[in-house]
Amino acid sequence: MRVSGDRLQWAGGALVRLNDGVVRFGRELFPDPRGAALPEAIVLPVQAYMLLREGRAPVLIDTGSGGAEAGVARGLAGLGIAKVEVGTVVFTHLHGDHRGGYLAGGYEAARVCLSRAEAEFWGGQDHPARAVLEVAGDRVQLLEDGDEVEPGLRVWALPGHTPGHIGLVIDDQIAVVGDILHRADLQLADPDLATRFDTDAGLATVTRKAALARIAERGMVVCGGHMRLAGQEEAETGAGFLRLSALGIGWEARAA
Ligand SMILES: [Zn+2]
Repeated sequence: MRVSGDRLQWAGGALVRLNDGVVRFGRELFPDPRGAALPEAIVLPVQAYMLLREGRAPVLIDTGSGGAEAGVARGLAGLGIAKVEVGTVVFTHLHGDHRGGYLAGGYEAARVCLSRAEAEFWGGQDHPARAVLEVAGDRVQLLEDGDEVEPGLRVWALPGHTPGHIGLVIDDQIAVVGDILHRADLQLADPDLATRFDTDAGLATVTRKAALARIAERGMVVCGGHMRLAGQEEAETGAGFLRLSALGIGWEARAA
């Protein structure tokens, strides 16, 4: 496995990180800081991922915010991929910074995969997230824990941040974990630290601990939607592809 910049390459394909700008919060992002020294402003990178495999259509995991910066669209253009060539869009969950790029248009040819629990949660209320289901129509494919989006791309149920939040495990070696981490440096050190965007903070915490333990045990490479490490406070891009090892009550990250 080899990392160069935003690209992770292995025998089975390549995973490319697409940087979609940043979202800005105050320290109220973490309602209970549990003693952590929080910065005044918390700036999180927004990241989507493109899975590229020989002989298969590209798979886009999350789509960014779709805002003026539209970094995902720029990233695709940089890869020489038109939106219409994307065969599958997979959502880890339907928050705005993950669905916005899809709703900005252009992915009408793609199959749209998300968990059944996520579709039922947002589909059952009057919320902008419901537009994803309406736009995708009969191209929606609802998935359960353990299902394969395509061979070697498996759904990993990681509920709590939203009820149907999922990660994706690629070739049993790489985990794309969505929003189980935001400020990775703080939450790896203290995995009990939850954000105010967690629908169920208690469940999100249980999920985070179990997922990080499994990633570390199996030696998987991990990446996510917003991961940021110390020293990256104001950068456009956060942590790239990481490996974890157990340290005290938490985990320590190093570059993959
Ligand atoms: Zn997010």
